[in-house]
This record gives sequence, C-alpha cells and structure tokens, in this order.
Amino acid sequence: MSEPVLVAGGGVAGCATALGLHRAGIAVEILEARDDTDDGGWFLVVGGPGCRALRTLGAGPAFEAVSRPLTDLVVRDADGGDTGVRRPLSGGDPDGSRMLTRAELVGALRTETDRLGIVRHVRTRVTGVGAAGSRVQVETDRGPRTTPLLIGADGIGSVVRGHVDPSCPPPREVGQRAFYGRTPLRPSGAETENGAFTVLASAAQAFVAIPTAQDGTWWFARTGPPRPAGAPDADPHATLTAALGPDGTAAALLAATAPRDVGAFDPRDLPYLGPWWRGRTVLAGDEAHAASPASGLGATLACEDAAALATTLQNTDLTDHAAVADALTHYQRLRRPPGLANVRASAERSGSPVP
Ligand SMILES: Cc1cc2nc3c(=O)[nH]c(=O)nc-3n(C[C@H](O)[C@H](O)[C@H](O)COP(=O)(O)OP(=O)(O)OC[C@H]3O[C@@H](n4cnc5c(N)ncnc54)[C@H](O)[C@@H]3O)c2cc1C
Repeated sequence: MSEPVLVAGGGVAGCATALGLHRAGIAVEILEARDDTDDGGWFLVVGGPGCRALRTLGAGPAFEAVSRPLTDLVVRDADGGDTGVRRPLSGGDPDGSRMLTRAELVGALRTETDRLGIVRHVRTRVTGVGAAGSRVQVETDRGPRTTPLLIGADGIGSVVRGHVDPSCPPPREVGQRAFYGRTPLRPSGAETENGAFTVLASAAQAFVAIPTAQDGTWWFARTGPPRPAGAPDADPHATLTAALGPDGTAAALLAATAPRDVGAFDPRDLPYLGPWWRGRTVLAGDEAHAASPASGLGATLACEDAAALATTLQNTDLTDHAAVADALTHYQRLRRPPGLANVRASAERSGSPVP
C-alpha cells in the first residue's frame, strides 16, 4: 500500500480535508495533538459556501443534524426595540447559514472520518517538518513519519507553517476581548425569532444574541482592550458585567447567564501574506488565514479550503513533483484571495492594523 498523505491537526480543516482526500481516492491519516474530549470551544457560524463544501465532502447530513439554521440579521436598540434594520444574514445565499458549537462540528466530522475508516492518531503532536528526498519527514512526539504530502491544518499556532515559510510573522492579538455565553432567557422584543442574528445596541463594541428553538439564547460580545498579557481573567462574567453596565437587554441576558456558562478569550489573527505551500507541504484553514472572529468566517473558509484541496489533488500523481507543484499552485491561487480578504476585513472591524 502507498504511504498515506498526512494531515497535521484533526480540527475543522484537518478532518474536512481528510474526508475530501478519502473521497478523492487518496489514502490519508490524521495526526491530532489532543484527545477526543470536548476541548471547550464555543460556537461557530457556517455560511452557505461552508454548508455546500461540507455537502461536497459527504458531511452534509451529519453537519445538518447537529447545527441550527440562522435567519435574518436584525438590529435592535438597547431595550430590544425594533430599529427597522433587517436583512438575510446569508445575503440571500440559498443555503443560508447555520450555527453550532465547535465541539459539535468537529464531532460530526470525526464521526464521519471514523465511519470511513480514516485513521486519526490522537495525542500525536507534530513537532517538526523537514524534507526527506521526494517526501516529507514529519516529526511527532510519538516518533517520525514520512509522507508524499503533508497538509498543515494545525491551526493558528501552527508548527507546519514555519516549514513552509520560516519568515512568517507570529499571530497577533487584535485588541479585543471575545465573550460567549448561553442563557434560557430570550431577548425582549425577539420572543418569536428563533435563529435571528440579533445585534443589540450596548456599551460593548458588539453584542449579538441568537434565540434558538431548543437550547435558549446563545450570545457573544466583543469589548476592548484585551486584558494585560499573563493576567488571568478568573471571572469573565464579572468583567463583561462591568463593561455592559446595569441597563438594557444585553445586560439582562448576561445577568441571566450562569457564570459557568460564560467564556472569554483574547482573539488573535495572522497577518500572513506569504506562500501557502512549499515542496510537498501545504497549508489549510486557520493555519494559513486565521482571522479575528469579527467576520465569523473561519469555519466556512476552512471547509472551503478542504473541498478545494481535495478537488485539486483528485487526479494528481503524488509521485510527480511537477504535477504536485501545479496542483498546489492552483489551490493557492483559488483559496488565498478569500482567505486574505477575510483577515483584512475582520482586522478592519476589530480596529487592528490591516495587513
Ligand atoms: C479549542 C478550540 C476552540 C475554538 N473555539 C472557537 C469558538 O468558540 N468560536 C470560533 O469562532 N472559533 C473557535 N475556534 C477556532 C475555529 O475552530 C477555527 O477558526 C476554524 O474552525 C478553522 O479551523 P482549523 O481546523 O483551521 O483550526 P482549529 O479549529 O484551531 O484546529 C486545529 C487543530 O489542530 C490541532 N493541533 C494544533 N497543533 C497541533 C500540532 N502541532 N500537531 C497536531 N495537531 C495540532 C488542534 O488541537 C486542533 O484540533 C476554536 C479553536 C480551537 C482549537
């Protein structure tokens, strides 16, 4: 049997890419640093192009079974009153947008890779990458592997990216704090609007509430600036309460959210303008184009990368160096412009320098 393509990272981009390669008839294995326990992510929005990519990859039914449909973007005043601003969240895309936790999305993709018999080596961290003749040598904390092609999908803190471009800049903080939470309370004035992406005026830079039919209201907020580096934020609920003040619908939703159901992090992005591939190593997902969550497209773009990479490699002879170079050039030409555009758009929305 031929040596499998290796995918570093079994998150959204990694599992989706493995599904695509398997469907394209290419043997593939995943190297994932963590185990399969819920790793604490909050929620993600997958836009129409991401929904279509997941369908192309054969993960459509599994994804739809665990996600919730989103409808309109609605802007409400601080007390939940209608401002008259309303438009389809997906800009009229026929597939709309859907929302789910990161654990639900990764779980659905991992269930699908398991069903197809794709090997996923958990607790296997990639620690280094080098050339080995016409193949790639992949160092892991469980020993070395070689492969005809390495897909780097190990996220924003990627090890693989340093091999593709040793001069790539490190990720940077975008200057905001992001908060996520869930509460049984519904925003006032929005009693019947399940799936409405409800932007509420508040003292935060952004506060969005999404009522769902089955599990209360999901909300997220962004404030600035981030906490000082190294200073632990023991109580994000209290931090956001202080930022929002006592009045208004956003504050009421937060007050009705249990502290254990509030999470926070300091978003980072990747101001990376360099190449996405070198030799027999190629990047996908956040590893290539991590953006702040301000535009909510990280998961969508990761799924699209996966589908594009699989289509591009489908008829490529992996023993033919020139054919691999052509395929990876084509993939980069297709996927780099939207990836970079998203990093730029979300940097602008976050008020950080646009790369
Ligand atoms: C724990 C976690 C929680 C998140 N929560 C949210 C959220 O709530 N909202 C949101 O908008 N985005 C969240 N994200 C980011 C979001 O998943 C991505 O923006 C998007 O889905 C693109 O996915 P990705 O697969 O490129 O990167 P990621 O989702 O970051 O996946 C990268 C994967 O690679 C693995 N990995 C990392 N380093 C190595 C290594 N050296 N060797 C092997 N494997 C490695 C990681 O464990 C992870 O499974 C989260 C990411 C993580 C890792």
